[in-house]
Amino acid sequence: MIDLKQLHKSYYTEAISLHVLKGISLHIDSGEYVSVMGASGSGKSTLLNILGILDTYDSGEYYLDGTLMKNLSEKQAAHYRNEMIGFVFQSFNLIGFKNALENVALPLYYKNVSRKKRNIIAMELLDKMGLKEWAYHMPSELSGGQKQRVAIARAMISNPRIILADEPTGALDSQTTVEVMDVLTHLNKQGITTIIVTHEKSVADATNRIIHLKDGMIEYETRKENGVHNTYTYAAQNL
Ligand code: ADP
Ligand code: MG
Repeated sequence: MIDLKQLHKSYYTEAISLHVLKGISLHIDSGEYVSVMGASGSGKSTLLNILGILDTYDSGEYYLDGTLMKNLSEKQAAHYRNEMIGFVFQSFNLIGFKNALENVALPLYYKNVSRKKRNIIAMELLDKMGLKEWAYHMPSELSGGQKQRVAIARAMISNPRIILADEPTGALDSQTTVEVMDVLTHLNKQGITTIIVTHEKSVADATNRIIHLKDGMIEYETRKENGVHNTYTYAAQNL
């Protein structure tokens, strides 16, 4: 599903360049449940944004579902972003003046789906998230966990094959963190490749594979195999 080979990324600002990703090689199969951990500034969001085609990389290769993600036209990039990938953010990114249902339905508005049809689909998703009775409430009337579940429903509305979540529980207390992780775990069990960036060990432990980033490189990864956690170093992973 996702194949990275020696991926490099720098940010260039005026006289300064900042080398953020320093040769990331990583293979993620369809249906995997993966988390990315690492200190603040280690390049987690940069990596996730590249995976989500929200940002470009400088060198190396990124294959998504067998296609090299390089020199894409705006139309191609939008295709992958909108059809293949659902993005979830720490700050929910809901539109404050639209109710939950309208927020979830919004991606279908841009695909020219009729209001009636998009509201039916959005309501089904809200129902799956246990939020049916909140459909006509504004984001300001929802708890953090409810807001994030609305955001996940919105990410799911295009039937993506991959969910990318950048600190999805970063703004939540421990109770609502569990609530949101249950939803993500459930989606992964339905076959959606799920990649979560997190600071929280409890969140990472819900996944089957933890990638540890340090200074723009994969330091090691931990895999849950038959209930046992095994650690693999970066060098071993490259063999
Ligand atoms: P993390 O998500 O692990 O905290 P990021 O990927 O957000 O790390 O950032 C990695 C480094 O790149 C940080 O030093 C950050 O300040 C810098 N950075 C992130 N985005 C930009 C940008 N758009 N322009 C310049 N520097 C950036
Ligand atoms: Mg980040």
